[in-house]
Amino acid sequence: MKKEIETIINFEHVYANYGNFEALKDINLKINNNENWVILGANGSGKSTLIKLLTNDLYPNTEYEFKKQIFGKDRWNIFELKKLLGIITNELHVKFMNCENYITVQDIVTSGYYSAIGSFKHHIFSDGELKKADEIMQFLNIYDIKDKKVHELSTGQLRLAVIGRALMHNPKAFILDEPTVGLDIKAQKIFIQLFEKLSKEIPIILITHDVSEIFPQITHAALVYNQTIYKQGRKEDILTSKNLSEIFETDVDLRQENGKYFISYCN
Ligand code: ADP
Ligand code: MG
Repeated sequence: MKKEIETIINFEHVYANYGNFEALKDINLKINNNENWVILGANGSGKSTLIKLLTNDLYPNTEYEFKKQIFGKDRWNIFELKKLLGIITNELHVKFMNCENYITVQDIVTSGYYSAIGSFKHHIFSDGELKKADEIMQFLNIYDIKDKKVHELSTGQLRLAVIGRALMHNPKAFILDEPTVGLDIKAQKIFIQLFEKLSKEIPIILITHDVSEIFPQITHAALVYNQTIYKQGRKEDILTSKNLSEIFETDVDLRQENGKYFISYCN
């Protein structure tokens, strides 16, 4: 059951730079916790940069007057904020893929408590925390492989462990950056069904270039183009062939069936 309506993100006139390069311009975006959003854009359009602003891994350009509130607050301790956001990115997946071989599925899930990569000797868990990790692994169907080590996992299994890690904190929102990249069709289906289920409890912000990741519970869409949010609103108004042809700079035909989207190229 969803709680009372709360604003997750409230950005006004936010700009972001990497050195002299202006990666995002004049971002205005308000997302409430009774909505599920897709943030759609081509490769390199600035989607992941938007996430970095959200997670305080990147700060807005202070040359402009801006408002940047997350859960109604202007300032956050980065660790506190990361506990409230269930963040699943390919970057995080790769970090775990490259960490020491002794790290297990259970370590990845429990590491959510410390927002750490892996779990280390000085991290001590209570019985309650370990029980919660067990429940999460059961929910995600990875309990049977909880002692498997990182290098013994398939891409899909590792991705599930990273989701389990995000669930440890009871996040108030999920941020999924291209969550099914690298997964085969069956694993992709399992993930999308999982997001459908999770979105009934926890609002989801899905960042992607791939319309096939958009699931029926998504209510709103924002299109990233030309370093800014080109259009945003209810998905019915925003997810159109015309808009997508514009942001992908190629003529496409977008079809929708039972809340799922399919795209094909036009000649
Ligand atoms: P997307 O996630 O939509 O593919 P990004 O937000 O990763 O796009 O990147 C937006 C733009 O910012 C791209 O032109 C990219 O090359 C640039 N960029 C991303 N990260 C950095 C960085 N750390 N330093 C410099 N430029 C970057
Ligand atoms: Mg990206």
